[in-house]
Amino acid sequence: MEKIGAVVIGAGVIGLACARVLAQRGIDTVILEQHGAFGTETSARNSEVIHAGLYYPAGSLKAQLCVAGRRLLYDFCASHGVNHRRCGKLIVATSTAQESRLETLSRQGEINGVDDLQRLSAADARALEPVLRCSRALLSPSTGIIDSHGLMLALLGDAERGGAALALRSPFLAGAIEDNGFELEIGGQEATRLKAGIVINAAGLGAVRVAAALAGFPAARIPPAFYAKGNYYALAGRAPFSRLIYPLPEPGGLGVHLTLDLGGQARFGPDVEWLQNPLPKPPDYSVAPARADGFYAEVRHYWPGLPDGALAPAYAGIRPKISGPNDLAADFLIQGPESHGIDGLINLFGIESPGLTSSLAIAELVAAKLQLD
Ligand SMILES: Cc1cc2nc3c(=O)[nH]c(=O)nc-3n(C[C@H](O)[C@H](O)[C@H](O)COP(=O)(O)OP(=O)(O)OC[C@H]3O[C@@H](n4cnc5c(N)ncnc54)[C@H](O)[C@@H]3O)c2cc1C
Repeated sequence: MEKIGAVVIGAGVIGLACARVLAQRGIDTVILEQHGAFGTETSARNSEVIHAGLYYPAGSLKAQLCVAGRRLLYDFCASHGVNHRRCGKLIVATSTAQESRLETLSRQGEINGVDDLQRLSAADARALEPVLRCSRALLSPSTGIIDSHGLMLALLGDAERGGAALALRSPFLAGAIEDNGFELEIGGQEATRLKAGIVINAAGLGAVRVAAALAGFPAARIPPAFYAKGNYYALAGRAPFSRLIYPLPEPGGLGVHLTLDLGGQARFGPDVEWLQNPLPKPPDYSVAPARADGFYAEVRHYWPGLPDGALAPAYAGIRPKISGPNDLAADFLIQGPESHGIDGLINLFGIESPGLTSSLAIAELVAAKLQLD
């Protein structure tokens, strides 16, 4: 049976970033992807925002990896020609009652190392975005937007230059932990078995299932899976904003915000719709037109001029959560040998937002946990 250095399960932005660091450190690496193309699940169904890092509890992995990842990502975009724009974002308090929460968020950002936040009066904010309604705002100049497909293409390019291979239509089915690595069973038309010294479980929505299919992995180390869908609605016509506009965060998500894509198209979302576990295969990514009704009222808190009938269903993504609606401080769970005691195995659980922003920093953390440096 063939033995290779490393197998990465999942070709989303996290698996590709991990494969890149493994390949660049001289490890022969195969990326297994169940679908016929890379990056078609959560990495293609998000807001494509490069987050500054202000929302997350101090010291959490999200706070550390978002701030570090954002810096790495801007450098990577510049060196690899990945389309992006540092457009900035405004977080708004829409009533005086919300102003203390906005101030708490500003302080949280500063504790997390976001060092360029600017507190704005309503007049200052309106000078930047004339149709905005708010009582105060926080400007985050280092927030941006990115072409996530372009990012994944560049990560794959680096990985392949380092010798990594992407195996499409190659689902990981099951595996076993052995003395000196792992034996894996791979499905698809060319079903096969192979041995690997390192396994990276970057299966996104499937990460909990993958860990459960690895014989010998302690069940107590596998977190529960929860899924929260986020629906987006596109705005007809041109957006009257040049920055991203966010309300204050809500349980489970960041609130129904306005994001722009690199073509200037605006969309609103994502909301938070908790789904049943297990997810159907394939998951239901349809966006119900009727859910838009709830968006109008939320958006009009900060943009009273949103015309009736301007929102059309766009797309949806699903957050791979490991805790339910009441956990307001949910963090990434990145397990290496130091936590589960199995050499060569990394599990990446709960990689929801800001996973895209954090991807390069997550890959560096994975390399450190494997003591590759
Ligand atoms: C609605 C929403 C909005 C978001 N907005 C942002 C944002 O603006 N900024 C930000 O930084 N982050 C954002 N995120 C988070 C970000 O999108 C994710 O953290 C990131 O895309 C996760 O990447 P991943 O590679 O872990 O998962 P995925 O992209 O889901 O990749 C996992 C891959 O594993 C494959 N796979 C699964 N099981 C198997 C198996 N058994 N065998 C082989 N392959 C398998 C899947 O097919 C998939 O391709 C958002 C997420 C959501 C849901």
